[in-house]
Amino acid sequence: MAVTVQPKALQNHAARDFRMLIDGAWVASDSGASLERVAPGHSVTVSRYQAGTAKDAERAIAAARRAFDEGHWPRMTGAERSNILLKAADLIAARADELAFLDAIESGKPISQAKGELGGAVDIWRYAAALARDLHGESYNTLGDGTLGVVLREAIGVVSIITPWNFPFLIVSQKLPFALAAGCTTVVKPSELTSGSTLVLGEILIEAGVPAGVVNIVTGTGPAVGAPMTTHPDVDMVSFTGSTGVGRLTMANAAQTLKKVSLELGGKNPQIVFPDADLEAFVDAAVFGAYFNAGECCNAGSRLILHRGIADDVTARIAELSKKVRVGDPLDPSTQVGAIITPQHLEKIAGYVAGAQDAGAGIALGGSQLDLGLGQFMAPTILSGVKPDMAVAREEVFGPVLSVLTFETTEEAIRIANAIDYGLSAGVWSRDFDTCLTIGRRVRAGTVWMNTFMDGASELPFGGYRQSGLGRELGRHAVEDYTETKTLNMHIGARTNWWMPR
Ligand code: NAD
Repeated sequence: MAVTVQPKALQNHAARDFRMLIDGAWVASDSGASLERVAPGHSVTVSRYQAGTAKDAERAIAAARRAFDEGHWPRMTGAERSNILLKAADLIAARADELAFLDAIESGKPISQAKGELGGAVDIWRYAAALARDLHGESYNTLGDGTLGVVLREAIGVVSIITPWNFPFLIVSQKLPFALAAGCTTVVKPSELTSGSTLVLGEILIEAGVPAGVVNIVTGTGPAVGAPMTTHPDVDMVSFTGSTGVGRLTMANAAQTLKKVSLELGGKNPQIVFPDADLEAFVDAAVFGAYFNAGECCNAGSRLILHRGIADDVTARIAELSKKVRVGDPLDPSTQVGAIITPQHLEKIAGYVAGAQDAGAGIALGGSQLDLGLGQFMAPTILSGVKPDMAVAREEVFGPVLSVLTFETTEEAIRIANAIDYGLSAGVWSRDFDTCLTIGRRVRAGTVWMNTFMDGASELPFGGYRQSGLGRELGRHAVEDYTETKTLNMHIGARTNWWMPR
């Protein structure tokens, strides 16, 4: 049984009312309607956002288009943009507690974790600021005496940025500072469940000196606001993070006007464990990988592929440690696993557990919802005897549910790891260098961790193979994703005529 931390009622907490940011002004939605956010850990309304419409999205796109075509932002020096991004980073750091609190109450994630994400986000803004000064093209001085070739990198234009609810501030920070560093202008749509911290970011960016129209933030549902942001002819690129299903739709929508798309989608990430591994370190990483952010994490290590010889012992050790994980009030500093995003999502998670049992899996731990008086919570759950063809082994559960599979040979482990549609990340645990490198090279995933799990750095690119996405975020090329190249082919001296050779 998990350790539970009873949620305390949010007393004297007034719901916060937000407007949207369009062309430098805080405005109400065209519909006049708003969306209420009920805190998943406390069952009270904590935020009200404007219910944006297609008309609002169009106004924001027009503002971004104007700011790009006629405004100062794309024409500033890299150093000027860099300084504004650095100022934004300082202001984010100064308001980190407020931002973390909003993310914790709106998403249900533990406050300690939300604060950690804010620290990571500040580092990303600083890293993007550094890249703003280093963006450059290429020159070719090797084309003969009569030719000089220069390849320019230009901002791609207006970028639609669409983000999910599971890491509200961190994910917008993986996109927006890089788009801004390149000189793009943007329309941002946060998830309709967790828009608060992105709207506060709008205040921060105005204070930092980002001109009107460069960052517009429109709140609302995906079909009402997100869809027009993916089809509008004045948008040049769509950067989307979310589910694979909506990612597919986004790509199809963007194809109508052949926009560039960058997609960060779902995952079903394996951790492959060999008997010679540091099992104590792995057991801790397995628990962290499964329950971090209540498993509502694209990178969750939700599939353990254990060598048959150690599977029973290791599963028992993971179950023992899982019992000590503290589940409950997102605002309690000791909480490690917070609330589930919505009651509907909790039902979906429970459905996967029931489906796995029907298909023959066993429950080594948990398996049920936790009634803590307020909010909605799920007990850390371990499913044993999972077979590679079961839904729970192939599909994203997006909850604190761990599936345990077994293997005999390295080839079999690689086959099981690769036998799904996703390819976001993977882990391998062994003290043998050859084993780690073999798995690292043959597992089809955008990141492979060796003897660790879910570490990251602003310098390291992140993204998926196959149906986990297209393109990479972070890393030194991240800013280039928001650019076009232009070739300047220059002639020097007398040109050889086509019609009448001189
Ligand atoms: P989602 O796909 O339901 O929503 C993501 C965003 O898309 C939201 O802002 C939503 O309003 C918007 N949207 C919905 N319908 C739309 C439409 N028709 N057109 C345009 N936009 C639309 O995803 P979610 O439930 O918010 O987030 C969970 C998913 O995100 C999981 O699948 C998770 O794996 C994925 N994710 C991936 C990464 C990554 O980096 N690979 C990171 C975090 C989350």
